[in-house]
Amino acid sequence: MALTHNLGFPRIGANRELKFALESFWQGKSTEADLHATAQAIRSKNWQVQASLDFTPVGDFSFYDHVLDTSFMLGHLPERAKNIDGNRLDQYFSVARGRSARNQNTNACPHIHAGEMTKWFDTNYHYIVPELTQGSEFKLNATALLSQIKEAQQFGRAIKPVIIGPATYLWLSKPKDKSHPLEFAQQLVEQYIDLLTLLSEHQVEWVQIDEPILVTELEKPWLDTIDALYKALSDTPIKLLLTTYFGSLGENLHFTSQLPVAGFHLDAINAQHEVEFLTNQLTDNQILSLGVINGRNVWVSDLNATLNWLEPISNKLKHRLWLAPSCSLIHVPVDLNSEDKLDDEIKSWLSFAHQKLQELAILKQALNHGRHTVESELDQNSKALESRASSARIHNPIVQNALSAITKTDEARDSGYETRAAIQSKQFHLPLYPTTTIGSFPQTEDIRKIRQQFKRGDIRFSDYQHKIREAINECVSIQEAIGLDVLVHGEAERNDMVEYFGEQLQGYTFSQFGWVQSYGSRCVKPPILFGDISRPFPMTVSWTKYAQAQTSKPMKGMLTGPVTLLNWSFVRDDQPRSVTALQLALAIKSEVLDLEKAGINIIQIDEAALREGLPLKKSEWQAYLDWAIKAFKVTANGVKDSTQIHTHMCYSEFNDIIEAIADMDADVITIETSRSDMELLDVFQHFNYPNQIGPGVYDIHSPNLPTKESIVALMRKAAERIPKERLWVNPDCGLKTRQWSEVTPALENMVAAAKELRAEG
Ligand code: GLN
Ligand code: ZN
Repeated sequence: MALTHNLGFPRIGANRELKFALESFWQGKSTEADLHATAQAIRSKNWQVQASLDFTPVGDFSFYDHVLDTSFMLGHLPERAKNIDGNRLDQYFSVARGRSARNQNTNACPHIHAGEMTKWFDTNYHYIVPELTQGSEFKLNATALLSQIKEAQQFGRAIKPVIIGPATYLWLSKPKDKSHPLEFAQQLVEQYIDLLTLLSEHQVEWVQIDEPILVTELEKPWLDTIDALYKALSDTPIKLLLTTYFGSLGENLHFTSQLPVAGFHLDAINAQHEVEFLTNQLTDNQILSLGVINGRNVWVSDLNATLNWLEPISNKLKHRLWLAPSCSLIHVPVDLNSEDKLDDEIKSWLSFAHQKLQELAILKQALNHGRHTVESELDQNSKALESRASSARIHNPIVQNALSAITKTDEARDSGYETRAAIQSKQFHLPLYPTTTIGSFPQTEDIRKIRQQFKRGDIRFSDYQHKIREAINECVSIQEAIGLDVLVHGEAERNDMVEYFGEQLQGYTFSQFGWVQSYGSRCVKPPILFGDISRPFPMTVSWTKYAQAQTSKPMKGMLTGPVTLLNWSFVRDDQPRSVTALQLALAIKSEVLDLEKAGINIIQIDEAALREGLPLKKSEWQAYLDWAIKAFKVTANGVKDSTQIHTHMCYSEFNDIIEAIADMDADVITIETSRSDMELLDVFQHFNYPNQIGPGVYDIHSPNLPTKESIVALMRKAAERIPKERLWVNPDCGLKTRQWSEVTPALENMVAAAKELRAEG
């Protein structure tokens, strides 16, 4: 009798209730009790939805981030957060976002540096990086988890707390001094022993302990530590389900199989080939959980094919076989049933979190009671798969021909950087330390409303156009007043940098409620790329051209690059990602060329998500970079030498991909740097990175106002590493999530800083 469980359920709520509750709390419009009530309602709904499972996950809920929750549970906070005014929740939000919920609107209230945020493995979820220093201490406080456990136990079902394993926690942490994460293993394991002991006192039998780092390539000291950690944890009275996901165990397969735990969860979507080995290694008491439903994409599973390979395993393992999604479902939208505008045919190909659990239930039923007991469900599943495989809407011969016509010359600019830079410098006459922004400006209530009204058909295009143009006018005049050198139109017409393009490209569809958490209260709605990609009409030209007509300063066109469109969309699983990337490249390239034709001489192609597409195993990096960089170059490099190509990347780790970044050959790259104190420019310096760089001078994720002095200081550090002639001054990222009252003074300080630096020469 196979059992089912889940690794984690989306915690934002079916209608993003958590987002709205958080934002209202932060703005002082609701109380802490209101926030807790919303959280509790989401949890109890989630547990009801998961009622068919044999084990319900608990502890997968989080107010902001589950890694930050773990830091709090382990009593491991940055020193600067320890003496914050207020309670635990204030402290929590201070680490998460630089300030607590209270006194939100006054700049006078105490605030701290927010914790660094980075991508969770190869997903678009961001976690708050735990900070290690030589004095780091840990002191367990499991109140939050225990209270969720008690809450869940009231539902009278078997629960399974979910925690991040000690090795993964250390691996995700970042030393702030010379300390090494592994030095903390001993201290940490004591906390975990206490935690597991405590859980056993609360009628917990199984704990899901997540160690996704086991799908990466680990060096021996890490493996030795993991071995020691799990030996120590095996003495506790809890059954541990050692859980890995986001890939195969690869070279760690044998090692992992020998760890003294009560069971293993394997991502059977990516590691199906490892199932047999692991099954054979199991002792009679160990269980095997197989992640057979893809937790990372939105396509209906092939249930019959899954049963074909599962049946023999189920016969062998019986009740020792558990079934689950491959990873936590926080990476997929909540419920397909809310989608009443999706095309029926495409809808039949899709499966969101709710539907994935239903697929799981069908598999369990078929394994335990025979396929005939779910015949109609399996039939329906086959029909959906057949319709998807044969649909004419997926295959477009024109796109496929254009793809095979791509040659090497499509990948390169006419001249090298030096030549281009000279031509561009004559053309633009920019001062030293030119200032610019990354593209978006605050998305006010008004702007959102106009977009919604237009989308619903409540207002005509002419009214919509008028309003967006007004927003552009305002944005341009504010930028002029501030004194920025290269302007942007502000992206008022865009809901999201990927969705905006997805909506206009053929081969894409989009959901209404398909939200997925990106970080904290921020959610994204990835479009669904289901077929061959083409661009029927220009997508940005008219807005950009209009914006350029309002100013004599250069107007920067703003596009999302092919790799980011790919990595931030749910993409088809019926052809390699590399092929899809090139299709996107050709579509965006047409837009680049049309912008150029329209007189836009600076064009930014955002590749915010290039890095996160890197495979988790380093041995697979080069293959990815080869096609990803090629896609960027095909997109960008058809322009004249006089057209300046910018790219933007919102992260701060370039050490290991600097060669590929240089190979992109963008005239200017803007990057997130402020939180890393410009240290990340070291790698650009050592590599002798030849082109221009705009290192972000302030953190746009935090509402704190950057001072002129802090920006000058950062840029001086930058100029120690990169010749000042090649430096730009800009924020870390787009400003859409901020308010005008924050943006204007911040940019004024930024421009004042640039002026001071110029005066220094
Ligand atoms: N141009 C986009 C913006 O400013 C870039 C956002 C991003 O890189 N995440 O919003
Ligand atoms: Zn960015």
